[in-house]
Amino acid sequence: MEIIKLVAEAKGKISKLKKEGKSIGFVPTMGALHDGHLSLTAESVKKNDITVVSIFVNPTQFNNPNDLETYPRCIDADLEKLSEYHPDFIFIPEVEEMYPEPDTRVFDFGHLDLVMEGKNRPGHFNGVAQVVSKLFDIVTPDNAYFGQKDFQQVAVIKQMVRELKSSVNVVPCPIIREKDGLAMSSRNLLLDEEQRKNASKISETLFKACNLAAEFSVNELKAWVVDEINKNPYLSIEYFEIVDDTYLQPIESWDENNVKVGCITVQVGKIRLIDNITF
Ligand code: AMP
Repeated sequence: MEIIKLVAEAKGKISKLKKEGKSIGFVPTMGALHDGHLSLTAESVKKNDITVVSIFVNPTQFNNPNDLETYPRCIDADLEKLSEYHPDFIFIPEVEEMYPEPDTRVFDFGHLDLVMEGKNRPGHFNGVAQVVSKLFDIVTPDNAYFGQKDFQQVAVIKQMVRELKSSVNVVPCPIIREKDGLAMSSRNLLLDEEQRKNASKISETLFKACNLAAEFSVNELKAWVVDEINKNPYLSIEYFEIVDDTYLQPIESWDENNVKVGCITVQVGKIRLIDNITF
């Protein structure tokens, strides 16, 4: 496992390996790694000759300066965890290395970023696409691994790949959860003990909603979820939407012929957590 900090060095080493015919798997992360990130790393190591993991807290995707400032950073612990999975390269650039000049590119995601995270975090997905496209240019992966926890992000990245006519294969991976069901997230580290205990109500509510779908209409179920979450004094719901898994448009009825995903964002104190479930 080799640590690389410079873009030129990463490009040089990876292009040499590509010329030798090696396949490249890539796992982009913002660090504070947990088993979710490590599951993507394990999948990449299994399926590719070479695995590159990046750790970079990307400033352009944070629409809230306080969120960027408080985002957990623990690089030594991250490297220790990664070493057990034997990726080949860890790319850890500084902000100036990734953005020698401001990135002014604007991406077109069609309707995909007009709902949910896109609507509630203006500019977030444009920043994600800026950094992921730069990282794809540097790493030139055959396969790039993304977690379904960030369900809308996967759809947006797939759209970006289409827009850029990139040959990267985007591989979605399942959500990894804590024992009590809470979706693993670097932001969970920022919860205090009581908040952490109550945060498991988010996934618990999603699982129950899945079982209630046969009895309730779409709108009744949405109202039930909002009520369940807001009943808990530690939680405040930002949105719960049930959308189709391709265009991410809210569905009207269970009879529609598509895969339906319930996406939720909840404030736990100042911490914003997301989760989703496929019905
Ligand atoms: P982040 O460091 O939060 O930007 O996440 C880096 C990658 O890890 C993204 O593709 C996330 O979707 C993925 N990821 C984060 N949490 C989980 C989780 N609980 N299960 C699976 N993948 C995850």
